[in-house]
Amino acid sequence: MPDLNGQTALVTGATSGIGRATAVALAAAGATVAVSGRDKDRGHEVVEAIQAAGGSAVFVGADLIDATAATDLAARATDALGGRVDILVNNAGIFPFGPTASIEEATFDAAYALNVKAPWFLVAALAPGMAARGAGAIVNVTTMVADFGADGMALYGSTKAALGLLTKAWAAEFGPQGVRVNAISPGPTRTEGSAGMGEALDQLASLAPAGRPASPEEIAAGIVFLVSDEASFVHGAVLAADGGRSAT
Ligand code: NAP
Repeated sequence: MPDLNGQTALVTGATSGIGRATAVALAAAGATVAVSGRDKDRGHEVVEAIQAAGGSAVFVGADLIDATAATDLAARATDALGGRVDILVNNAGIFPFGPTASIEEATFDAAYALNVKAPWFLVAALAPGMAARGAGAIVNVTTMVADFGADGMALYGSTKAALGLLTKAWAAEFGPQGVRVNAISPGPTRTEGSAGMGEALDQLASLAPAGRPASPEEIAAGIVFLVSDEASFVHGAVLAADGGRSAT
């Protein structure tokens, strides 16, 4: 397992699903983790689970609706982590599906606010400090449907396609100062958030070579790799963790 002892990490959307598994895995590797999300009870439950396993974590709540919320989270997480964020995982996301003509403006704005604007302002607040220290790692969580057209996923896929491009742009901007920026692109993953998809999740997963949905832990393992020294020469990559769907 990678050694993240002495490192600090902020994981957005860590009260559930992939984010929760990522917070647990980063803490198991030795990082002190700021668990973020809106739901205090679920946040504290994640912190308690990490502490019970011998790890270190703190809950830092946030409703990432706009730039101010993101900037404020960056400041509070920095304080809670002792003055430094070494690892940022932009995981919080919503996935509204449906025909283009059915998407209301509020849904469009909410998807872009959480999936694109929040990562933007978190990176703007935290990456310069990483660059000044000469080290840092950022992982953006995208999706396989950012790379191909999927009926009913235009809004969602487009937000994550933007995040995929930002991954490369930020790698170019911050990489020369020692900050590695990468993304992971999951396929269908069994989480609280995807539970509402019912059998559609399995149907989507059946189209990939793996033929099944991922567990959140399988996605978290990829994120831990990307932030660790094992990935020291990996900059601006989008790691497909999609059971092979995008390769076939
Ligand atoms: P999930 O179970 O629904 O968890 C989403 C997380 O985001 C929760 O911790 C939630 O916390 C947080 N969140 C939602 N709205 C928020 C807001 N306004 N402000 C702050 N935090 C907010 O989702 P998941 O399935 O684990 O997905 C995690 C990421 O993976 C997302 O970016 C998603 O697009 C991506 N992804 C998922 C799949 C999949 O099949 N599950 C596939 C590809 C990519 P609170 O409720 O506490 O706020």
